[in-house]
Amino acid sequence: MTSAILPTYARADLAFEKGEGAWLTAVGGARYLDFGGGIAVASLGYSHPHLIEALTQQGQKLWHTSNLFQIPEGEKLAQRLVDASFADFVFFTNSGAEANECAIKMARKYQSANGHPEKYRIITFEGAFHGRTLATLAAGGQQKYLDGFGPKVEGFDQVRFGDHEALKKAIGPETGAILIEPIQGEGGIRPVPQQCLKGLRQLCDEHGLLLMFDEVQTGMGRTGKLFAHEWSGVAPDILSAAKGIGGGFPLGACLATTEAAKGMVAGSHGTTYGGNPLAMAVGNAVLDVILGDGFLDHVRAMASRLRQKLGGLQDSYPKIIEAVRGDGLMIGLKMVPNNGEFAVAARAEHLLVIPAGDNVVRLLPPLVIGETEVDEAVKRLYAACARMDASLNGVKA
Ligand SMILES: *Cc1c(COP(=O)(O)O)cnc(C)c1O
Repeated sequence: MTSAILPTYARADLAFEKGEGAWLTAVGGARYLDFGGGIAVASLGYSHPHLIEALTQQGQKLWHTSNLFQIPEGEKLAQRLVDASFADFVFFTNSGAEANECAIKMARKYQSANGHPEKYRIITFEGAFHGRTLATLAAGGQQKYLDGFGPKVEGFDQVRFGDHEALKKAIGPETGAILIEPIQGEGGIRPVPQQCLKGLRQLCDEHGLLLMFDEVQTGMGRTGKLFAHEWSGVAPDILSAAKGIGGGFPLGACLATTEAAKGMVAGSHGTTYGGNPLAMAVGNAVLDVILGDGFLDHVRAMASRLRQKLGGLQDSYPKIIEAVRGDGLMIGLKMVPNNGEFAVAARAEHLLVIPAGDNVVRLLPPLVIGETEVDEAVKRLYAACARMDASLNGVKA
């Protein structure tokens, strides 16, 4: 098929025209159970009535004003995020990469405002993903994404995931911050043990570094808490959120403490669209649901049901699934055969899942799934495993 869209994606030959809950309907009418959630974005599933209501109401009033004026809906959303988190301030963006750009700039500015402009370097971790802008690519440090794009943005030192000694050695006189995903998403659902998050907090406090959590994928209820770091009891100084925060509307946020934000004053940073009235109306509506009574309990209940059943799946197909890992409704199936082929097999069963690094298949379903969807997804995963099993045996025979 010829396409006028820049060919930066190897797209499946499948297009959807509507969605409801965790179900998508393809052009032609076939229904798919979506356990990818548009990459953890459709946190409340598709066509959620509360989101449609918020979007259409605001859509009829005012979409955009620029940040040269007060935006009451944004004031409200920022205050609610602050009330529900470690943070004192919020900067709204249109994407996760921009939220991380804000975090990176804020950390550098903080050290500079403290009289240490030389402390501009940030430690990141192998397998990380922080976005596709030049700075966030450098932060993620994945060679395949950096190749051919000229000199890497200076100031990022990457250490091996889980290598405590390397981490300590990497801290130098120019280090100003550490940036980490509490659970690596694109890198293959690799959780950072709670002990390590605590250790990072201590290390940052000892060395005067800012601790920054990239919760673009783990945040907004995905793990059964508003933010994944809450499980560890450790708070960051700066946090980036996006993906699920807008339920499908492009929205991101950078949250920070007063101390961490001290370098950011009028003119330090900006965005034309970020936090516009339409985005803010939807963001508030998403938060209404996520912070609603019992919602996160529901996420935890569905997660434990799913996790238990996936244990059974792994027991039944140890030659296909090597491990099940992750937290809440952010689950990785570490595959023995190729993860992309497994995603194709699942799609043949009309179940959408998402490949990630480390040969993992990700499950990132809408947080509103019920028992029916959990059970149905597991049934389809069994069928996909059976398909893979048959084709593996076929190859051997
Ligand atoms: C997706 C993702 C990003 C980038 O978000 P975009 O909205 O694509 O810019 C950054 N960090 C993490 C952890 C992500 O999962």
